Amino acid sequence: MADTENENLKSLEAELKSTKQMLSMLLDNIPGGVMEYDAESEKIGYVSEGLLNIFGCSEKSFREHFFNSFELFVYKYDRTMVREQIENQTMFFDSVELTYRVRGLTDDIVWVYHKGRLYTDNEGKKRFLVVLNDVTNEKLIQAELQRNTEQLFMETERLKLIEEAVDNTEYDYNAISDIMETSEKDREGRRRVIRHFLANKRLGDVIHPDDLDTCSALFEECLKGARKGTVEYRIKSGDSRDYVWFRMSYASFTDKQERVIRVIGSAKDITEEKKRTRELVEKALRDGMTGLLNKTAMQSGIEKFLAEGDVNSCHAMMMIDTDNFKNVNDTLGHDFGDRVIKFVAGCIRETFRESDYVGRMGGDEFMVFMRNTTRNIAEERAKKLNKAIKRDFTDRGKTVGISCSIGISYFARDGVDYESLFKAADKALYEAKEAGKNCYRIYRY
Ligand code: GH3
Ligand code: MG
Repeated sequence: MADTENENLKSLEAELKSTKQMLSMLLDNIPGGVMEYDAESEKIGYVSEGLLNIFGCSEKSFREHFFNSFELFVYKYDRTMVREQIENQTMFFDSVELTYRVRGLTDDIVWVYHKGRLYTDNEGKKRFLVVLNDVTNEKLIQAELQRNTEQLFMETERLKLIEEAVDNTEYDYNAISDIMETSEKDREGRRRVIRHFLANKRLGDVIHPDDLDTCSALFEECLKGARKGTVEYRIKSGDSRDYVWFRMSYASFTDKQERVIRVIGSAKDITEEKKRTRELVEKALRDGMTGLLNKTAMQSGIEKFLAEGDVNSCHAMMMIDTDNFKNVNDTLGHDFGDRVIKFVAGCIRETFRESDYVGRMGGDEFMVFMRNTTRNIAEERAKKLNKAIKRDFTDRGKTVGISCSIGISYFARDGVDYESLFKAADKALYEAKEAGKNCYRIYRY
């Protein structure tokens, strides 16, 4: 009997031994590692060969490095999270699943996927049996993926912005391929595409020569980095040879490496607006009755000319006043007087060159500024004007004769600025009047 019992015991022992062997083989061969620790004290019990492989160390140094404690095994910044996760999960299940970091023996961070199971050992103590897998690579890939997704999102947002801007755009320049696309349609109704735009200096084909330098400089600026602004320029429109005024809002965009990839512009035809502004400016410079320049325009025009002009040239200023004009008003009426003022204005306009400044200073008084002339020419003109204006006007049996008196001053002899030339010419005019009218006088010191 005792023999049989002995036999049974032996075979049980053998069975147990082979089971243990199988278990140990199993534990050493499953992917990742196995660890076992006390749920309360967190003292590490069994560690498998696979676990040591993850950290590339011996069992002794593993236990020393982590002070044989599961708590210290977890990377310090993840400890609170790990504790909370394990507490939360074991409230409902006797298994836990989580990912955290471990600081290895060579100070490198190892991400581990932890799948643990709570069990009670034969002494009634609660313990965890944990399978750990090194998921560092997966984590890195995941982080990279996350970064790429974020970048993709940013790129999409950026593209959306570009596209929005492109919606109302006439010009879209691709800096990488040197292609300019404009919303102007070609004969087939397609957007106009200009290849080798910069390489072939195509800007010069269409932009007005006076605006080309500005536009080229701005374009160059845009290719240096992200820029935006507005610019006005004249451009040949479509197949027509005429230039039209455009106002463009432009912006250049860069990629992640700060390299300019696109320059886009939204341009508007402002030819009409420019024309209206020019007309308004023109109008503000003109005398309403005669169409000659007004007093302000005369002064600013002459001042501007004198500031830029050649100091060695001769310029003449003439003050012209209609003689006995009051008689016209008194005898023939105010309306007739107006016609006479227009007549005098016409005579003056015809006597001088297009390039001379001719203006009405007010009432029956006019001014002429002859640029780059000679005294001979100026005096000859004055004589001619005296002759042209001397005239009798008759209306309903009443006759009034008019003529004009002229005072002349010369640049630079009598002054180098508007004010002194004006005073000198005015003084000469007074002398002409004093001399009996219908004549010209040159300023005398
Ligand atoms: P003088 O020979 O010394 O120049 O005398 P004048 O009669 O021409 O008189 P003066 O130049 O001093 O004055 C010009 C007059 O012209 C004064 C004003 O009544 C009149 N006048 C001013 N503006 C206008 C206008 O727009 N229309 C008309 N009809 N008369 C004007
Ligand atoms: Mg007068």
